[in-house]
Amino acid sequence: MNPVTSAVSALPKVVARDVNVFYGDKHALKEVSVDIPDNGVMAFIGPSGCGKSTFLRCINRMNDTIPICRVTGKIEIDKRDIYHSNLDVVQLRARVGMVFQKPNPFPKSIFENVAYGPRIHGLCKSKAELNDIVHYSLEKAGLLGEVKDRLEDPGTGMSGGQQQRLCIARAIAVNPEVILMDEPCSALDPIATAKIEELIDELKSNYCIIIVTHSMQQAARVSQRTAFFHLGTLVEEGPTSEIFTNPKDKRTQDYITGRFG
Ligand code: ADP
Repeated sequence: MNPVTSAVSALPKVVARDVNVFYGDKHALKEVSVDIPDNGVMAFIGPSGCGKSTFLRCINRMNDTIPICRVTGKIEIDKRDIYHSNLDVVQLRARVGMVFQKPNPFPKSIFENVAYGPRIHGLCKSKAELNDIVHYSLEKAGLLGEVKDRLEDPGTGMSGGQQQRLCIARAIAVNPEVILMDEPCSALDPIATAKIEELIDELKSNYCIIIVTHSMQQAARVSQRTAFFHLGTLVEEGPTSEIFTNPKDKRTQDYITGRFG
């Protein structure tokens, strides 16, 4: 193996240091520090209300949209401070895509749902190029075979699982490096869930994927690293197999053995 290449790929994609989040007076996230590797999946687990989504939303500055929310500390992507005053948040959100709990396609055609991002970000010079991006993104999201003959149909007319894969295609279309997923399967049945999990597994070699999940089984199935949150703190983080079989902290042990949750 080329030592230079291996050293580069070992660099974390996202580095968080001493991140705190306040909603008004409420201190929701406390001194969170973590390195998140590229080309893999990290799962955030922990009981409801422990701050998983809050931390996820720090990584593309979605918390900026909540007026009472204040974030301190440092988050870098590829060593660049994403809270720097010069940073273009619109560009950041293209680099750091997000998929939400409930699939939220625009009330437009399947084609337009995927074409919208590349168009507003100026990623294509011609109609043919846009067409290619839409097809590529749908293919990557495992949806092209099911929709290629009905790209003009409304995105909202598809099944929940297809809508969620459309949202993943929409995220992929703007060429992101990081994809944040906030309980992306919580509104889906087991078959649609399995398809999304398969898709995450395929995408992981090209992206840094961070998934919030309330399902420990899902975390175990899809992630290589897991971070356990409790009462606003990141208790421990490590290879998923170690977190589930040999956690260091008693709180993690209690959670994974079902003592609370
Ligand atoms: P999790 O994703 O682990 O369920 P959250 O990040 O959603 O937890 O919430 C962490 C804490 O922050 C909770 O106490 C929650 O009530 C609070 N919180 C989350 N979002 C908001 C908000 N928009 N305004 C005020 N408090 C919030």
